[in-house]
Amino acid sequence: MSTKGIRSNLYLVATFLLLAFPSLTRAQQQGPGPAAAPNFFDFLLRPKFITMLVIGAVALALLLTNRMNSRLKVLILLVSTFLYGLSANLGLKIFAGFSMHPSPICAATKSILYGFRMPMIVTLAVIIFLTLVGPKLFCSYVCPVGAIQELIAMLADKLQIRRRKPSFRLSQTFRVLIFIAFIFLSWTAIIHTVANNRIVALSLYDYINAFHGYEINLQPTLLDNLFHFLPFILTLVFAFFTYRPFCYFVCPIGLITNVIEQIGLFRVVKRKEACTDCQTCLAKAPCPAVAEILKEAVLVADCFACTVCTGNCPGSQLKFGVKRQKPDNPTA
Ligand code: SF4
Ligand code: SF4
Repeated sequence: MSTKGIRSNLYLVATFLLLAFPSLTRAQQQGPGPAAAPNFFDFLLRPKFITMLVIGAVALALLLTNRMNSRLKVLILLVSTFLYGLSANLGLKIFAGFSMHPSPICAATKSILYGFRMPMIVTLAVIIFLTLVGPKLFCSYVCPVGAIQELIAMLADKLQIRRRKPSFRLSQTFRVLIFIAFIFLSWTAIIHTVANNRIVALSLYDYINAFHGYEINLQPTLLDNLFHFLPFILTLVFAFFTYRPFCYFVCPIGLITNVIEQIGLFRVVKRKEACTDCQTCLAKAPCPAVAEILKEAVLVADCFACTVCTGNCPGSQLKFGVKRQKPDNPTA
């Protein structure tokens, strides 16, 4: 079997174990007795997660076959924005299960604070699975906060608004510092509240979570409304001037998936021998990832599979595919 084949199988096995493990451990803990709480697969098979996996699969198929064009991209991004962002506000039974509860941010951070619960485990498993398959499929085409920022980026291009391209070092420093502050504040809050016989940990992300903005209901006080809607509004405004500001600068899921995407199966790859180094892709790309992809760096910045670099290469030397393995013995 080729290295590529072995690698693909390892991914499948790892994915299966990842998906099955929580369910298996839970099943062992439950045993006979009163009606069991919904397990991992009960949650996974709900329409919200099934549609997420389907959207990820459709996007991947379109990317790999080079058929992802602007129209299809807008369509998929609008579907994700509607389904996982807006639909739950309509009050219709059919969309009752689609709300982003828990939001990806809550799934990651509240699990750290209060322990892993099944909806959070399933949310994280779907995000990790779609990122492992790649290219960062959850963030690229499923996440409603990511989708609306991508749509705004496309609109900004149409309106010929000049966007800034901050360095990845800057955005990553911000993202990491916010995460460290979250851990520090949570930790000190736990210490404090345990001393008072209560556990009320403080989550910094509760005050900067753009996902809350999709929950369209007025909060009791002006300050509550500010914390509820402002991160989302700022995200929408800044998205006109820089590419996916919330993803690169704030989101802890962006941070986690950036680590995971380094071993993702599918990604933007360069056909080295045919690249003329004209750097057209670099000039057009909205992200800081292309420069590292061209250098075939081991670690790359977040790629949101926007297709700008692959679509603008004059010789089609960038494409979505499996990263080529370096030969074990090049002289053999
Ligand atoms: S980085 Fe966060 S906000 Fe951006 S697409 Fe991913 S989960 Fe959504
Ligand atoms: S321009 Fe290329 S590397 Fe950058 S986000 Fe889009 S597809 Fe990924």
